[in-house]
Amino acid sequence: AVEGAAEGAPAKRLTRGDYVFAESPEYRRLRETIDAAAQAGVDNPYFTPHEGVTADTTIIDGREYVNFCSYNYLGMSGDPRVQAAAKRAIDRYGTSVSASRLVSGEKPLHRELERALAELIGADDAVAFVGGHATNETAIGCLVGPGDLVLHDSLAHNSLVQGARLSGARRRAFPHNDHAACERLLERYRGEHRRVLIAIEGVYSMDGDRSDVAAFIDIKRRHHAYLMVDEAHSLGTVGAAGRGMSGLDGVEPSGVDLWMGTLSKALGSCGGYIAAPKEIVEYLKYTAPGFVFSVGMPPAAAAAALASLELLREEPERVERLAENSRLLLRLCRQAGFDTGASDATPIVPVITGDSLAAMRLSRGMFERGVNVQPIVHPAVEESAARLRFFVTSTHSEEQIRLAVEALADARRELQKTVGKRGIAAP
Ligand code: PMP
Repeated sequence: AVEGAAEGAPAKRLTRGDYVFAESPEYRRLRETIDAAAQAGVDNPYFTPHEGVTADTTIIDGREYVNFCSYNYLGMSGDPRVQAAAKRAIDRYGTSVSASRLVSGEKPLHRELERALAELIGADDAVAFVGGHATNETAIGCLVGPGDLVLHDSLAHNSLVQGARLSGARRRAFPHNDHAACERLLERYRGEHRRVLIAIEGVYSMDGDRSDVAAFIDIKRRHHAYLMVDEAHSLGTVGAAGRGMSGLDGVEPSGVDLWMGTLSKALGSCGGYIAAPKEIVEYLKYTAPGFVFSVGMPPAAAAAALASLELLREEPERVERLAENSRLLLRLCRQAGFDTGASDATPIVPVITGDSLAAMRLSRGMFERGVNVQPIVHPAVEESAARLRFFVTSTHSEEQIRLAVEALADARRELQKTVGKRGIAAP
């Protein structure tokens, strides 16, 4: 069928796949990927229901597993004091604020949370959004647009890339953690654009490596660019007292224009924030579409994050425990001959197999041994970078970590016997 094309545009012959979604190439590709795993004898590892709080352990189908799949880094989700704060907030304010904060959804908890975040990070002020992903998507587009340029790390999270795309600004990626390459792009393109935003992460979520924030601050100052640091995985996990990258020696909090973070990881809640100079925060609060035209953060979520910030202050030993556990897992994996990539004293430890099927089989083998760890496979990463990804928490015991590495080595031995060495990095 030839549908009425816009005047002047060539008519396009529609196929059924253009209007029957189940027959579209996009959907077929997804279906083939899911079916390929099943045909290879690998169970679908996604959307498995977890029956309790997900922390160092989790319950699946009534059985308890040692768990490395949650970013409940500091054990805040499930902590009785955090839960009590969320329950009190529900009793007092209900389960929804029932309006955008701009109009009548503002609760005292929102500002308390924002002030506590700004104080921890060393920023002027902060604004909290309902989702971490939504924070990046909406904040970037609010601050840059057509005529501007976003330079981002090649491994930047989808939310940063989507934010840059949707903003209408020009977009260029620079090689991972390569600040010199970022500077070369600035030298070349700075003059053509009104504003330039450099977007990086503190700790990268796939590899567990860190960025050199101080070097980026230096560059952004020399080229009059804005710098945004996504602290989803660094707040609460690195830096003095878990302050994140702003708590590291040599990093001046005011050198970063936008400290972004999520409340869903170390802070055991849900939502995102931008901590920034007060004018930027004010501008976002009055103009960012994902803030202005969206309901305010639920009382329970705000109260949980606020209680977690208090616990972080009162119990800095959680951050120390997390660092000890991360070091132990990394050391044991390396000793057993696994390729842990660039993981750098952070709670994210990849075990790179370089083969999606091997990653899925290894994950399955560990699951059978009572350990839950997620495979990250193509197309989420390049095939050569397929991996298992461990998220360590402060509540893991040494015994649980040792058991996990033993299960990993054991699963590898079994796989080598049954399917050969292909794709599994071995000593
Ligand atoms: N930024 C980074 C670097 C992330 O890893 C994530 C989520 N994994 C987000 C932003 C989005 O945060 P949230 O899951 O809280 O929406």
